[in-house]
Amino acid sequence: MKYMSIMKRWLLNVASIVLVILIVVSVSLFMIIRNYYYGAAKMTVEAMTSEEISSIFNMYGASTSGFENAAREYCENFSSGDTMAVWVIDKNARVIVTSSGFAVSDDVEISEYADAKESPGGSAIWTGRLPSGEKIMANTCIFRYENGRFGGAIRYMVSLDAIDRQLVNLAFMILAVAVLMFAVLLLSGMAFIRSIVNPVKEIGETAKKIAGGDLGASIDHYPYNDEIGELCATINDMADKLSESDKMKNDFISTISHELRTPLTAIKGWGETLQQIGDSDPAMTKRGMDIIISESTRLNGMVEDLLDFSRISSGRMIYNTERIDFLAELDDVAYSFKDRAYRNGIELAYNAPAIPAPGNADPSRIKQVFINILDNAIKYTEEGGTITISAAIEDKKKLVVVFEDSGAGIAPEDLPHIKEKFYKANNTVRGSGIGLAVCDEIVKYHGGTMDIDSVLGEGTKVTVTLPLEIAVKQEKHEKEESENE
Ligand code: ADP
Repeated sequence: MKYMSIMKRWLLNVASIVLVILIVVSVSLFMIIRNYYYGAAKMTVEAMTSEEISSIFNMYGASTSGFENAAREYCENFSSGDTMAVWVIDKNARVIVTSSGFAVSDDVEISEYADAKESPGGSAIWTGRLPSGEKIMANTCIFRYENGRFGGAIRYMVSLDAIDRQLVNLAFMILAVAVLMFAVLLLSGMAFIRSIVNPVKEIGETAKKIAGGDLGASIDHYPYNDEIGELCATINDMADKLSESDKMKNDFISTISHELRTPLTAIKGWGETLQQIGDSDPAMTKRGMDIIISESTRLNGMVEDLLDFSRISSGRMIYNTERIDFLAELDDVAYSFKDRAYRNGIELAYNAPAIPAPGNADPSRIKQVFINILDNAIKYTEEGGTITISAAIEDKKKLVVVFEDSGAGIAPEDLPHIKEKFYKANNTVRGSGIGLAVCDEIVKYHGGTMDIDSVLGEGTKVTVTLPLEIAVKQEKHEKEESENE
């Protein structure tokens, strides 16, 4: 679509419509006032009817002298002489007497005279210019004698020049007010639009800077708390989050490089040592081999964690779901950790009911969750500490597994973040900071929850809740029922 600025759109869509409305209103107003003035002039010239005039002239009789006397007397006694002029016209359309006293030349044409004679009311109105150039409105009323003979007419005239002058002044006033109103609308509208467009431009510039990698860019001086203010706050927040995530990424790269280097150094070191000593020291060879194997296993675990994390992030994690017994998986993991706990001088207690806990899940992923939690418990518990694993079925619907250790614990400020990717509360212990993030995703995928409570220096409690098959079936059944309703 063609680019069109907001200002241009506003001018086209709003200002132009307002301009049209203003023009229509101004013209209508002018026409109303003009009609009012012309109406008043018309009312003035229609002061007397044909019958009234007839009755006056009848009083003087139908003779020529009677007509002339009546005409003179009528003009002399005419009371509205200051606003209106009167001509008395004889039956041959000649002006006999005028209220001003000045004679009117015979060739002055009484344009409406013929119309008045023919009209049923005996009068006709004409608007036009006199030979002198003056614009007038004239009303000619004919009169007849009692015997029905046509006697002549009286022409009432008002000047329209003064009215027209007033109307011109009025038109200028209306035009000035309309122009003023339009100018005010234009200026205030443009100022308002500029107050929106300029910050939007600034937001665009800042967003471009952020996109270009300047994560410190922010919009600081938008003064109002409105939709644009909210947008600015969101952009600033986005920049903060991006910069946080950038920092996290850098931290992660440095942590992970460090984590990878440690086992690699051990493997390389022991490889070189074994190469040097050859077959001379079988005990040393065995020890070296053990370390190489355990460090390779650790490396492998770390790479697997990273791959899982990347699969989860891109939504490519594959779950091979089947009907399993959660407690059987927990048994396996608990027993495989007994030895390691023992070697670390940690007491591992395992209490689980000997009943089946069926569920639909990926057994290796569920095991991965248990292994990760127990691995952390061992990593963060000193020699002499205890780890307790207990499991119970609640409401026949869910399995609740609690892993409790008496280890280092987690500081309250770190606790809300430890399930986040790359977050490490303790940098002195080896780890990538993604184990719990992956566990949380796996548990969530299976419809469960993972909660962590901890007291720094006292220990940590991780509670994993997983829905059992009955609960899932029941939920499905309820869903189907509600869909059928
Ligand atoms: P890591 O690979 O670093 O262990 P995790 O995601 O598994 O990554 O754990 C995140 C952080 O949570 C750890 O760095 C550690 O600080 C804290 N943590 C997890 N489990 C425990 C625990 N049982 N005791 C103390 N701290 C723990």
